[in-house]
Amino acid sequence: MKTFLPGSTVGVLGSGQLGRMFAMSAREMGYRVHTFSPDADTPTGQISDVEVTASYDDLDAVRAFARNVDVVTFEFENVPAATAAAIDKIVPVRPAGSVLHTTQHRIREKQFLSGAGIPVAPFRLVRSLDDLNKAIDELGTPSILKTAGFGYDGKGQARIATRDDAASAWASLKTDEAVLEGFIDFERELSIIAARTADGQFAHYGLVENQHKNHILDLTIAPAPHSASLLAAAEEIARTVLTKLDVVGVLCVELFLTRDQQLLVNELAPRPHNSGHWTIDACVTSQFEQQLRTVCGLPLGSTEQLRPAAMANLLGDVWQHGTPNWSAVCAMPDVKLHLYGKLDARPGRKMGHLTALGATPEAAAETALRARAALLSKS
Ligand code: AMP
Repeated sequence: MKTFLPGSTVGVLGSGQLGRMFAMSAREMGYRVHTFSPDADTPTGQISDVEVTASYDDLDAVRAFARNVDVVTFEFENVPAATAAAIDKIVPVRPAGSVLHTTQHRIREKQFLSGAGIPVAPFRLVRSLDDLNKAIDELGTPSILKTAGFGYDGKGQARIATRDDAASAWASLKTDEAVLEGFIDFERELSIIAARTADGQFAHYGLVENQHKNHILDLTIAPAPHSASLLAAAEEIARTVLTKLDVVGVLCVELFLTRDQQLLVNELAPRPHNSGHWTIDACVTSQFEQQLRTVCGLPLGSTEQLRPAAMANLLGDVWQHGTPNWSAVCAMPDVKLHLYGKLDARPGRKMGHLTALGATPEAAAETALRARAALLSKS
């Protein structure tokens, strides 16, 4: 597989914070970055050498973008398959369009996982209200109805508490393809982020604990408390997924840990993930540098974690009483502030994050939460 050394140009499909942090890593190592998305003055565009604003369906614009770069990756997995295919005729896309195809659709993703012998929450395909009623009979309540495509952060989901919710849940999703999932009364949510090169080199960042609020990641604690056997099981799942999907890139496996200590896969994200942002400040090689390395055909960097860490997301809600108290956080020596350059601080929108380092993961989590609370204090 061809190697693209520093000085080459990497194209990024998508222009959010994941692309921004990728672009920062790439530019740090002397790469040029072009970004492509329907938006302008974006988090990624602000850091890139070139920002192209066009629709993913505008294949002429997509081809023109591809002709100006050496290799393409993405930060947004809902890129249409035709877009990835058009680029792949001109320059390599990594991970390949086939990885996008599987992971951007819940049914294909679950069928892949089940076929690979990886445990997932019980699920049924739902294409009509009739299907949904049958699925509820089989899986019981509570359960969660999720659209097959284009869902993230709990969007495109409806919780079904009783059978009476079926009709309104089905109508609210406005889709003709969904999955009903049995509700998992999990002990904790975990994730493992892993990377794989074209020649099969594999590395992971260990198990982290993720706490969500309103379906959006709120806090990641790294590492999560775990036994050696739990970590080995998670590593095995990650290795199987990356190998069987033939991923050249970074992929996050989101997991439920059940009360009897079994791991179930909730979701795959074929890119760096919010639950890996702490790697920027706490690891030898961040998840973004690792993405760059895999995409450019370089060997992996070390995933060694140098200190326990915790990451707290900063949603637009932090701006509710005006400008956050940045001085308070800047006065905390073990806290690193990351802002994504978004101007409009809407509630629920990911605007930035804080990473705290500590003597233990618990101490880091406590510092991260204290730092976030300090943002709301009067300056
Ligand atoms: P998702 O968009 O599928 O990652 O779901 C977002 C969040 O909803 C997850 O991180 C969980 O907190 C919750 N959730 C999703 N599916 C289930 C399930 N089957 N059982 C329990 N909680 C779930």
